[in-house]
Amino acid sequence: MYKHRIGFALQRHCKLPVCLRLKHDSNQPPSEPGNYYDPDTINENPMHRVKRFLKRDLNQLVSTFNDPFNQYEDSKLFPKTVDLLIVGGGAIGSSIAYWIQNKVRDGLSIVVVDKDLSYSKASSALSAGGIRQQFSLKENIQLSMYSAQFLREIKTHLTIPENDPPEVSFNPSGYLYLASEKGADTMLQNHKVQKDAGARVELLSPDIMKKRYPWLNTEGIVLGSLGTLNEGWFDSWSMLEAFKKKAKSLGTYYVEGEVVDFGFKVDPSIVTENDPNKEYEGINSVKVKLPNGEFQQIVFALCIIAAGADSGKVARMAKVGTGDGFLSTPLPVEPRKRFVYCIHAPKGPSIAPMVIDPSGFYFRPDGFDNHYICGKSPDDENEPSTSNLDVDHEYFEKEIWPLLAHRVPAFNEAKVKSSWAGYYDYNWYDQNAIVGAHPSYFNLFLATGFSGHGIQQAPAVGRAVMEMITDGGFINIDLTKFGFGRLIAEKPLYEKNVI
Ligand SMILES: Cc1cc2nc3c(=O)[nH]c(=O)nc-3n(C[C@H](O)[C@H](O)[C@H](O)COP(=O)(O)OP(=O)(O)OC[C@H]3O[C@@H](n4cnc5c(N)ncnc54)[C@H](O)[C@@H]3O)c2cc1C
Repeated sequence: MYKHRIGFALQRHCKLPVCLRLKHDSNQPPSEPGNYYDPDTINENPMHRVKRFLKRDLNQLVSTFNDPFNQYEDSKLFPKTVDLLIVGGGAIGSSIAYWIQNKVRDGLSIVVVDKDLSYSKASSALSAGGIRQQFSLKENIQLSMYSAQFLREIKTHLTIPENDPPEVSFNPSGYLYLASEKGADTMLQNHKVQKDAGARVELLSPDIMKKRYPWLNTEGIVLGSLGTLNEGWFDSWSMLEAFKKKAKSLGTYYVEGEVVDFGFKVDPSIVTENDPNKEYEGINSVKVKLPNGEFQQIVFALCIIAAGADSGKVARMAKVGTGDGFLSTPLPVEPRKRFVYCIHAPKGPSIAPMVIDPSGFYFRPDGFDNHYICGKSPDDENEPSTSNLDVDHEYFEKEIWPLLAHRVPAFNEAKVKSSWAGYYDYNWYDQNAIVGAHPSYFNLFLATGFSGHGIQQAPAVGRAVMEMITDGGFINIDLTKFGFGRLIAEKPLYEKNVI
């Protein structure tokens, strides 16, 4: 059903059906115009050369006119009508912009609106940058497997001609999950799902762990699970920057401004599915508050909400959760504050994987000089206030340090050197991504709710959303289960390995 609706949305709103506007193979760099003085063509017929030269100039001129945002770069004009509008230019929004723009080139005009292009509070800039395959759901495993491959090949994807290639410092040291008696069965079940999905993971007995990791206290641990490929951590800020720069180089236009409302339009030609007698009221624009306090409207054909922790709030502006029928179901994404502490422990392990303790804390090395980062999600009843990003230092002293020092005795001497806080884009319904079309609007898509594992999924999610929009359905990784439909059907899709 979605397939048809999306195809319909594109045909209805884009100036031409998108299939007619696809250009060339997206993996091929755009061809350079020929060089007039190329020594290989020195014996060329002069008339042919002049013709070739004129054709090159004409092509350049046409592409300048075709660049829908060229006029906005140096002026105070504003893009008022776009084919695709993405709310949120973090890793998810920028990855989607890159994948779609790279595929359709100038076949679609894409605008990303972000309220803070310095990303001072964006999760993508404040994440711990971890990537793992150790999930309980096949889709999450597949997403991270592809993202790891993408990170390895990032230079092929995101290098801009004449620029230095992007560097995301992928450290493939793996994740070591530890299980107590209580969690061992779940670890075994997850191991099977991971193996079936093709992940490279191995189970470790406490004896093996004692030998391999002499700094680890295995008291109370009955099983360990180590990812031996495609797991570790990377520089999430650099990945975000690389996506954004590449998307911009391909024609995506970034606007700094806050989406504060949606515009609605009644369309009598559309019959609503749940009530044929009711007029269809669709969304067709956003109201954007600019940094100077002015408001601008942007009319769009398609809109994707990728606003991270604020996605629930943005969706509410489109009546998601406040309307009738399918619109009565809210988008269950809200900010949840998480702290990251950077510690120094002079006798800590020099090399270690990301360790996930059954008590919920994690730590991993941060460089090679006995510095580490660590954190722990609080219990539901003790969620910290989200009114600011202040760090609770007592939380480390009381809730993390004792557990950390028990598991790695060298951390008895740990000292906090710095810390930060960020917002998880938390899906309070089932702690999993919500990716797909909204059933009440043929032109609204969602990519949000990653609940602490979104940075690693950004490359794969961007590709999946691109497939959904331009091909009418998922091709490489089927994310149908991640759709909004599960919220309406009240069928939660739990991910057991949420950190
Ligand atoms: C402390 C911490 C540690 C983490 N560690 C990991 C990890 O190890 N591995 C992992 O995979 N994930 C991790 N995550 C989660 C990961 O960072 C997020 O899932 C991911 O970055 C989400 O990306 P995003 O683009 O959806 O959101 P964001 O990066 O938050 O981007 C959303 C953007 O939307 C913009 N926006 C919001 N509202 C509006 C509006 N009304 N108008 C315009 N713009 C708007 C914001 O300004 C923001 O730039 C961590 C998160 C935190 C906070």
